[in-house]
Amino acid sequence: MRQVQHFINGAHVAGAGKRKGDIYNPNTGEIQAQVDLADASVLQQAIAAAAAAQPEWSAVNPQRRARVMFKLKELVEANANELAELLSSEHGKVIADAHGDIQRGLEVVELACGIPQMSKGEYTNAAGPGIDVYSMRQPLGVTAGITPFNFPAMIPMWMFSLSIAMGNTFILKPSEKDPSVPVRLAELFMEAGGPAGVLNVVHGDKEAVDGLLQAPEVRAISFVGSSDIAHYVYMNGTANGKRMQCMGGAKNHGIIMPDANMDQAVKDIVGAAYGSAGERCMALPVAVTVGDRTGDEFVERMIDAARALKVGVSTDPEAHYGPVISEVHKNKVEGMIQTGVDEGADLLLDGRGLKLQGNEGGYFIGPSLFDNVKPGMETYHEEIFGPVLQVMRVGTLEEAAALPSQHQYGNGVAIFTQDGRAAREFASQVNVGMVGINVPIPVPVSYHSFGGWKRSAFGDHNQYGMEGIRFWSQVKTVTQRWPGTENIGDQAFIIPTMS
Ligand code: NAD
Repeated sequence: MRQVQHFINGAHVAGAGKRKGDIYNPNTGEIQAQVDLADASVLQQAIAAAAAAQPEWSAVNPQRRARVMFKLKELVEANANELAELLSSEHGKVIADAHGDIQRGLEVVELACGIPQMSKGEYTNAAGPGIDVYSMRQPLGVTAGITPFNFPAMIPMWMFSLSIAMGNTFILKPSEKDPSVPVRLAELFMEAGGPAGVLNVVHGDKEAVDGLLQAPEVRAISFVGSSDIAHYVYMNGTANGKRMQCMGGAKNHGIIMPDANMDQAVKDIVGAAYGSAGERCMALPVAVTVGDRTGDEFVERMIDAARALKVGVSTDPEAHYGPVISEVHKNKVEGMIQTGVDEGADLLLDGRGLKLQGNEGGYFIGPSLFDNVKPGMETYHEEIFGPVLQVMRVGTLEEAAALPSQHQYGNGVAIFTQDGRAAREFASQVNVGMVGINVPIPVPVSYHSFGGWKRSAFGDHNQYGMEGIRFWSQVKTVTQRWPGTENIGDQAFIIPTMS
């Protein structure tokens, strides 16, 4: 059986062999490979490699670091088909979606190509008598990223490309459910001219994560995953003095106003709710309709749109979405559908029990649709992370806006309307980190930044954009005066001294 190994100091490394995880093919339910789960000794090897490589890598000038990123971009593009197939076979998302996963990550590699410009410091000439002040951005040292199963290419690239371009070295601990693409990315980084030890991949579960949280050499950790674990990682990392950025779960609302273009809203929401089997942190699993007529029309049309979706194996070019990641997750999503029924929501489409002929062992769930979901319901409060759309009906925009604003999660939200004034007011007031106006999945482009609010993110900086540069660097400020310049310039400047 195929074995997925760690990638440390530029080479594949087998663990001590004590603990392994199974990698399933979600299309069939069969085990297709195994992954080493790191213990403390493997993690220590990676930390030692990253620490040894860091001084030399940070001394490489930023143009040369950028050149490695340019080459990595070329190599990922050249290998995109192979990467997408591998990704799809372990995750279960359809090939077109797997390409999207790679593309959105590549955009942050492209951003990292601009590191000479983005990492420049600031300078003030003659801040006082003969005194100039300048600040520079310096790398932190050894850094790490812990990533979820649902974007095995994009999220690792969000993290390591900026950190490494900034002059840090990196240890990636990807999801143990679909770990192969992250290893391929590390191999391509080496092929692009990245030195050994700069990008390391350590597989594992809680043991590896706890090891990273405790390692004094690791200065900063970026985490993306579910909220309880994000919070745990944040609390432990900060308690150990690390810089932490921990993105969590989501429950994004799409608000449909009476003046919305209904064709667009239905088309956008069917993709945003069910695409990738709903396993996206920026999916739109809640549709809030404003006004009775809007609700009736939306529901009627959504039933047709959802019924028209084809659920298939991830290699089927006609499938809109594939299986969910695991049997455990399938059972969880189907259990939540039952809870929704029990707590009184109207189940209009029930995707449970879907079996694909020839792939009966696969983890498929058909599109499910609830109407009349209410704020107190558990299935509304919690993230379902499956192909389930919940419709809520309200009378006014104020009532609609209160729902995402008061929800425990605050990742993304969208509004569908033709009214610019209402949209502008909504965007400014809503208590959520990323807003779409007639855009269903408002994942910002790489030169802005990505981050939710409330229980969707713990920590101070967003992913990528200038926020990412700030997270992966530290500022040093130098105040300098040279002999013979004391009487030049503004004598009113005061520097604290002993006298
Ligand atoms: P997860 O929380 O189960 O796992 C994330 C990472 O944490 C993995 O690397 C995993 O190995 C590790 N981990 C798991 N259990 C752990 C434990 N007890 N202690 C320490 N580490 C542990 O998340 P997942 O199921 O892989 O991903 C889906 C979740 O990620 C969803 O909640 C989704 O909303 C969220 N997500 C959020 C964003 C965002 O940017 N906000 C993006 C993508 C996914």
